[in-house]
Amino acid sequence: MDIKKNDIFKATIEDMNDEGAGIGKTDGYIWFIKDTVIGDVVEALAMKMKKSYGYARLIRVLEPSAARVEPACPVSRQCGGCQLQAMSYEEQLKFKENKVFNNLVRIGKIDNLRRIGEETKDGGQQVLRNCGEAEFLPIIGMENPWRYRNKAQFPFGVDREGKVVTGFFAGRTHTIIPQEDCLLGVEENREILKVIKDFMNQYHVRPYEEKTHQGLIRHVLIRKGFRTGELMVCLVINGRNVPKMEELAGRLREIKGMASISCNINTEKTNVIMGEETVHVWGPGFITDYIGDVKYRISPQSFYQVNPVQTEKLYRTALEYAGLTGNEVVWDLYCGIGTISLFLAQKARKVFGVEIVPQAIADARENGALNGFKNVEFFVGKAEEVLPEWYEKHGSPADVIVVDPPRKGCDEKCLETIVKMGPDRVVYVSCDSATLARDLRYLCDRGYQVQKVRCCDMFGGTGHVETVVLMSKVKE
Ligand code: SAH
Repeated sequence: MDIKKNDIFKATIEDMNDEGAGIGKTDGYIWFIKDTVIGDVVEALAMKMKKSYGYARLIRVLEPSAARVEPACPVSRQCGGCQLQAMSYEEQLKFKENKVFNNLVRIGKIDNLRRIGEETKDGGQQVLRNCGEAEFLPIIGMENPWRYRNKAQFPFGVDREGKVVTGFFAGRTHTIIPQEDCLLGVEENREILKVIKDFMNQYHVRPYEEKTHQGLIRHVLIRKGFRTGELMVCLVINGRNVPKMEELAGRLREIKGMASISCNINTEKTNVIMGEETVHVWGPGFITDYIGDVKYRISPQSFYQVNPVQTEKLYRTALEYAGLTGNEVVWDLYCGIGTISLFLAQKARKVFGVEIVPQAIADARENGALNGFKNVEFFVGKAEEVLPEWYEKHGSPADVIVVDPPRKGCDEKCLETIVKMGPDRVVYVSCDSATLARDLRYLCDRGYQVQKVRCCDMFGGTGHVETVVLMSKVKE
């Protein structure tokens, strides 16, 4: 290959990586080209080159892909938060579904997947050992792929004239690009930001400046309960209080739905957004929201799924796959604040949840009590330690085990114990189809078969995709 750094070359985009960068090839050499879409023919500038792959910058699109659309957000390229905005939503869904399908086939060697709702090709039906025919169902997309996020965090800074600005940090820099209406966030964000900015300009309350560690207002965290309409505002400050905070709170309270106003203290030189201490200014210190019939109490620091509408669909799918009748003992591993556990508890005899973060388990217990569930029990610890210990002590069987691990997937010790416990069904919820595929292979080799696979889009515009898989124990 004779392309050198700073050369301009032509390439066809054949695929996209997990970060949403287009992938094109020249003489077998792989290029990652941001801001391109599968099917584009582009001209690109070689930037950084490694042995077998390199990075190039898009110069211009020579022949646009049929999947290309004009990004709805004016700053989508600078922001980089939505890597797939130049692709129509329909194409995004296809892309995500294909990515999961291909990973399951290539990495997981699950080559008996039958795509439902599409023609099945003859010959693709060869059955691997312990892998009966499995249904690959159509991805669950969003009705509206905009304004789906219930949470936003905006940093504050000043522009050249010294006026207060909010927006987002450009790329990996700390320069704020003013943009107050992210199209993934709720409409109220803009209103809330305006109130805070006007207040800061009026009373000369300075935004925090990273370089000098001076100034007061660092960030604002905004959350909304989609079902209840409740709004939360939490100002992250470099100090203990905001002058005239009462007045600011008064103005914020005029916004419909305002339910909780607080300040989070962060006086550290850090780019971690939140500090440890939160001081409540007005309201109970939390907002309430529902996923299905389960009620959740959300405080500024608690983890909560950012797309509640799709989360409900994802959990319903997991619940359906769990096939509960009311008699089952269920484990929910990597349970976070117990969102899936409480969903399952509505239909199971007993649910055990395991999670590594102690605060999340405190929230899980509180949410369990809030909903009056007496059949859930939570443990703090690693799934790969808590589960084997329990099994050794009680030897007790489980009917269903649900796992929802982080991107790196399940620890082998955890999978090994699941196999020993021998539940009838394993429901795997995954945010990374490569590790999902690896873990499914492990279980397929040890007496389980894939029954159903279904993707769910929780993060439109971005490359992320969630997948739920039902596996069942092969009867001898
Ligand atoms: N099921 C939850 C959260 C899933 S995210 C929900 O739907 O809201 C994955 C969770 O796994 C995180 O909360 C993370 O803290 C936790 N985690 C990471 N490693 C873990 C481990 N080894 N054992 C148990 N939990 C772990």
